[in-house]
Amino acid sequence: MLTKEEDKLVSKIADLKRKKNAVILAHYYQIPEIQNLADFVGDSLGLARKAEQVDADMIVFSGVHFMAETAKIINPSKKVVLPDVTAGCSLAESAPEKPFAEFISRYPDHMVITYVNATAAVKTMSDLVVTSGNAVKLIDSLPKDQKIVFAPDKNLGAYINQVTGRNMVLWDGTCEVHDILNTERILQARKKYPNARLIAHPECRAEVLDKADYVGSTAQMLEYAMADTAKEYIVATETGLLHQMHKDSPDKKFHVVESQAGCACNDCPHMKKIR
Ligand code: SF4
Repeated sequence: MLTKEEDKLVSKIADLKRKKNAVILAHYYQIPEIQNLADFVGDSLGLARKAEQVDADMIVFSGVHFMAETAKIINPSKKVVLPDVTAGCSLAESAPEKPFAEFISRYPDHMVITYVNATAAVKTMSDLVVTSGNAVKLIDSLPKDQKIVFAPDKNLGAYINQVTGRNMVLWDGTCEVHDILNTERILQARKKYPNARLIAHPECRAEVLDKADYVGSTAQMLEYAMADTAKEYIVATETGLLHQMHKDSPDKKFHVVESQAGCACNDCPHMKKIR
């Protein structure tokens, strides 16, 4: 339920949107109020696909910097605005342009595959850009003897290596939101919710993924939670996703894995800059 003040703000945003012929795209990690007023809510892959189809004059991208940048790459004739230009990403920032160029120069016979959570500069040095939703499928489709450098997420890279039986060289980067979860946090959640199934995003550490009943991208976790027969879930990812899960499956219970004892949260500080 919105307050009177928030209601006024929402009307103002709607007016401005009409005036500018703008469309609002929002990531699942945005606060519920932003997700509710967006024209489309999605994960990286869904938002990239939507950005390509947009025929409005302006895309207001409620997410972080690399996502707005990706929308601009995909649909360069549109004006793309990011409500807070300082909304960055620890993962994208873990791979700065120069050190990354030096790193891949050590592997001249390797294909460079980059997760979409990277800067445009790093993407231009890549042969293929993937999302967590299509990474396994695309990498698995390559010849088995193809040498690969994968960046920037080492947890996702290790997971793909495990699933596909490859031995990709991994850049040493992580997402601060997923990498903070560990065995202790999972055991604590399991103890608190003994009947819940654990679903996890592949940006989590192997020690978390090993304990999960299901591992999948943001959109895959949503689909799984809707189709699965269980009634209760522990969700190892960013807190914002639970808003959509509750909407999709109001009869089920969802619990976030606490990032620290006593705090029922695991928020991305960059995503949460958009208010
Ligand atoms: Fe980056 Fe992680 Fe935040 Fe996503 S959740 S924007 S990968 S820091």
